[in-house]
Amino acid sequence: MEKVKEKCGVIAISAPHKSIQVSRYVFDGLMALQHRGQEAAGIYVYNGKNIEGYKGLGLVSEVFSTNTLSCLMGNVAIGHVRYSTTAKSNLENAQPYHFTSTYANFALAFNGTISNFLSLRRKLEEKGHVFTSDNDTEVIAHLVAANLLEVEDFMEALTLVMNQLKGAYSMVLMTETGEVYAVRDPLGFKPLCLGIIPQNESYIVASETAAIDTLGGEFITDIAPGEIVKLSEGEITTRKAVNLKRHARCMFEFVYFSRPDSVFDGIPVHRARERLGRILYRLHPADAELVVPVPDSGRSAATGYAEESGIPIAEGLMKNRYVWRTFIMPLQSHRENQVRLKFNPVKSVVEGRDIVLVDDSIVRATSIRQIVYILKKAGVKKVHVRISCPPIIAACYMGIDFPTRRELIAANHTVKEICQFIGADSLGYMTIEGLMEGIGLPENELCLACLNGKYPIDDIDIELLEKTLGGCRK
Ligand code: SF4
Repeated sequence: MEKVKEKCGVIAISAPHKSIQVSRYVFDGLMALQHRGQEAAGIYVYNGKNIEGYKGLGLVSEVFSTNTLSCLMGNVAIGHVRYSTTAKSNLENAQPYHFTSTYANFALAFNGTISNFLSLRRKLEEKGHVFTSDNDTEVIAHLVAANLLEVEDFMEALTLVMNQLKGAYSMVLMTETGEVYAVRDPLGFKPLCLGIIPQNESYIVASETAAIDTLGGEFITDIAPGEIVKLSEGEITTRKAVNLKRHARCMFEFVYFSRPDSVFDGIPVHRARERLGRILYRLHPADAELVVPVPDSGRSAATGYAEESGIPIAEGLMKNRYVWRTFIMPLQSHRENQVRLKFNPVKSVVEGRDIVLVDDSIVRATSIRQIVYILKKAGVKKVHVRISCPPIIAACYMGIDFPTRRELIAANHTVKEICQFIGADSLGYMTIEGLMEGIGLPENELCLACLNGKYPIDDIDIELLEKTLGGCRK
């Protein structure tokens, strides 16, 4: 599909007793985070003496078997699901990343993009660090190790690291003595939350609250932007390492990436999407008989649109959930075929009707164009398309896999032109003001860079990032 992709999901579990085996919990948590990355998965455990782990390419259920999990014995573990944005999709770049040297031994799992990773890498290389992959995770690991030489304590080292990194990062780090550190960048682009499994008093850190729920856990708190949380044998220590006045939560987490059953920094994602649907109706009412969501991404906003308009909502489009990873199809013609494989209209519901089709976003517009086409072929009279995200006009340098600006249809075409291209009878987008109202956060608490071109990180080397990011998107 043409949807933009989240880079990764991370999880860490720290049980207070050595008798508790946590790899199965991490596996289940990764299954709950599978939507955040489908190219690779990995779990590393602290086995009481050392760090060991397993990772592979594919879905979590493809990478791990019961046998593999039973070999990963330990009461502390971290896990990762990956979708690549800044490096190639190969096993070398899969995470967690295990750093070992004479002076440091730890495993790291990371979600985000470090925008100054090339200059940091060059400085580290000048000091003698040798890199084996082309990813920014290895740069973070070497940076942690380099700072550990100065301060010999992970809390201090990570504090120094946070003052050197620029970009979006939520990460978990496990030491060779079984401590876990969870770190969220000072602007808070990505979610990261803390919970507890009451039966065995294990602490969980995860990219989304839905993973905590899946494990029967209880949410404790969001890890704050700029905060480090240390988990060690049933104890929690926190430090506010960097304090910024503004934050930059990725608006796409609310619009599309996060699961609707997750709560991001206190805001239930489903509710935010429903509010966006209501606002969308007020901005762009339509004379129609049915509201039809594009499953699953448009469902919450469609519910809001239907409630506000009084137009009944109906499942007029079915999704084949077993067509996976269509985004890796390199050619446009292949992607278009995948849309037909993935969606099928429910003719008995939509035939002869005027409908409002609600989806979360338009990137290249190839998917929505195909969907409008198959709906009209199924006998729909009029298709009014409503999109709960404003037009995407700029690239993302903070960890989301966007096509280049050239491929973003809204960067190069008017709404009228896009409407004609997709074959809809009308097209209405959310506004940036409406988006902020729907999410419930002001401009200085959100990243809106792909909508307005205002990047919340200073002096991003866009030219350099275009070269590195552009290379891996081909
Ligand atoms: S540019 Fe867009 S996708 Fe990227 S972090 Fe900002 S809001 Fe999210």
